[in-house]
Amino acid sequence: APAPPPAQHLFSDPAEIEALRGNLLAWYDKCKRDLPWRRLAAAEPDADRRAYAVWVSEIMLQQTQVATVIDYYNRWMQKWPTLQALAQASLEEVNELWAGLGYYSRGKRLQEAARKVVSELAGQMPRTAEDLQKLLPGVGRYTAGAIASMSYGQATGVVDGNVIRVLCRLRCIGADSSSPAVIERLWDMANALVDRSRPGDFNQALMELGATVCVPKAPLCGECPVKQHCRARRRKLFGKPAPVPDVEDCGVGSCPLCPPAAEPWDSSLGVTNFPRKAAKKPPRAARTATCVLERRGCHGALEYLIVQRPSSGLLAGLWEFPSLPLAQGLQEEKQREVLADHLRAWTGRPVAAGGLRFIGEVVHIFSHIHQTYVVYSLPLDGDVTLDPALSPSRWVTEKEFHASAVSTAMKKVL
Ligand code: SF4
Repeated sequence: APAPPPAQHLFSDPAEIEALRGNLLAWYDKCKRDLPWRRLAAAEPDADRRAYAVWVSEIMLQQTQVATVIDYYNRWMQKWPTLQALAQASLEEVNELWAGLGYYSRGKRLQEAARKVVSELAGQMPRTAEDLQKLLPGVGRYTAGAIASMSYGQATGVVDGNVIRVLCRLRCIGADSSSPAVIERLWDMANALVDRSRPGDFNQALMELGATVCVPKAPLCGECPVKQHCRARRRKLFGKPAPVPDVEDCGVGSCPLCPPAAEPWDSSLGVTNFPRKAAKKPPRAARTATCVLERRGCHGALEYLIVQRPSSGLLAGLWEFPSLPLAQGLQEEKQREVLADHLRAWTGRPVAAGGLRFIGEVVHIFSHIHQTYVVYSLPLDGDVTLDPALSPSRWVTEKEFHASAVSTAMKKVL
């Protein structure tokens, strides 16, 4: 077993833990933001319905800003106010509502999980973090802890990006905060700190603190309700802490939670010395040729051909203009030829490479891919019969296009 971390990285004084809980909850009661999922959950007496309201918000908030989520959340809860309603929705409807929110597999997994609860669990939500994580697709450790603590009152902690930042600062944890060893310590700490009588509020308070006060770049330490417990702040104000008797003096030895010896405390950064992350891998560069095929529909309005992506992988099941990944370094002439070849399948007739009009390039950043779409257009006259043996495809007006399950990248292309 790994040695216990040095005391300066721990919460070991019960009186201090009690004080921190009290200060944080009092601040939360006074300062929390009024958010639709909080309002819904607070007004909902039924624990399972509350769990559904929390669950949807937590899935939407993964990797997405609160301000962006609010409108999607309200529309979702209006359309599918209960888990049972969601279980009856089609994936197409889910994708249409999710369009523009990104990370599309989240919506799909949410709907799969709702179906599972209805069909395999007799409509009963699992009620502990362990069961939620084990039984529901798309529910990881964090989401399970959030649902269990906020809806069912289980005294279990949560660790998300905001909590990582706050805890690393409170306890001067400067080792790579994305490493499994540090993450495991932070979960231990979150579980030890969580208030036993108000676990859901405590978890939300810790996250709220990270979102509004202990923010990444310029934290508002002067207004912080837990500043007297913060070792990063103390270190900023008073310098290096005195070594704690009988434990290793952090930063000198091989403490697994201190900043690496090669990158010691930088006094110009103050509390933002924490947390630290190993450099991210740069996103992979990819190029895709895409063609906006247009025709005049029967009422004279312009229509565009969209085709459906495969049901797994990136942007699963979403609609797009016919597209083709391009090999690196392909010359423009060759690019047109392969695209023209690919389009023949959709149009059912030969397409001259020279007839493709180059429009420009659209760059879209997915979490791990730096994607460039090389955009062409091709007006078609006459009727085009679509081959039903290919992926589903349809002609849409501009208005229909925007109401379809299309990604933000495709909207940029249009
Ligand atoms: Fe964060 Fe500053 Fe509060 Fe410490 S005192 S928890 S660094 S806002």
